[in-house]
Amino acid sequence: MKKQPLVPEFGKKVRLSDFDPGYTGKFKDKDEAAAEMEAMLARLDALQERLYAENQRALLIVFQGMDTSGKDGAIRHVFSSMDPQGVRVATFKQPSAEELAHDFLWRIHKQTPSKGMVTIFNRSHYEDVLVVRVHHLVPHEVWQERYDHINAFEELLTEHGVTILKFFLHISKDEQKERLEARRDTPEKQWKFALGDLEERKHWDEYVAAYEEALTRCNTERAPWHIVPANRKWYRNYAISHTVLKALERLNPQFPKPVDNLAGIVVPE
Ligand code: AMP
Ligand code: MG
Repeated sequence: MKKQPLVPEFGKKVRLSDFDPGYTGKFKDKDEAAAEMEAMLARLDALQERLYAENQRALLIVFQGMDTSGKDGAIRHVFSSMDPQGVRVATFKQPSAEELAHDFLWRIHKQTPSKGMVTIFNRSHYEDVLVVRVHHLVPHEVWQERYDHINAFEELLTEHGVTILKFFLHISKDEQKERLEARRDTPEKQWKFALGDLEERKHWDEYVAAYEEALTRCNTERAPWHIVPANRKWYRNYAISHTVLKALERLNPQFPKPVDNLAGIVVPE
């Protein structure tokens, strides 16, 4: 298999058709990846504990993708490797009347991670250049301005010690059909079946165009996009874990030094 980058080249127009959603890197199947996966989850747990203890910097993980692309599954997976006390999920649905009465980043900014925390966004400020664009929820001039606002916002966060990792979960249109059919036919999945998703599927090409523009214009060294091949759930999880692990290793968080001089201290009976 030809090696496929996760992060698209900065400044170059992203074409999703150049990225194979079925790519599985150096692995033939899930079993081949299993041992490395387990080792990574243990490392992630240890590094996240340090990030929390250090209490100086934060990590923001953004998940975007078409319906059924696996945002919920990816979140469950990332969580499974970490202490729930240091991890939060923020989910962004259709904005409330109060949210709509503010600028589009108002509700987002409130949910960004405080020092020591990992926050996972299930959808994000990118909806405001995706669903909003596809359904003409605001005029063209308004959403066109938003790419610059997003870049400035993400720069502000990174300057305040927040590392941002953005993941686009890339599935094929055929894979989405299978997953929607599975939701229709499996009792345990039916709660997720939404007729609205069938409507959204009709706008597939418009979503592709909207994603391509967001992935092109908001792909920065500070806050890079990762195009995660997501047809195979195990590879999706592998690629995400690997990326989060590398980022935490670069941060290299440290346990704080004890505040008091501990030498000679006796713990009372
Ligand atoms: P789900 O993630 O499946 O629970 O669905 C949430 C829905 O809220 C999706 O259809 C999103 O497109 C929609 N949504 C999220 N953010 C916005 C937004 N800023 N404007 C309009 N719709 C949104
Ligand atoms: Mg949904």
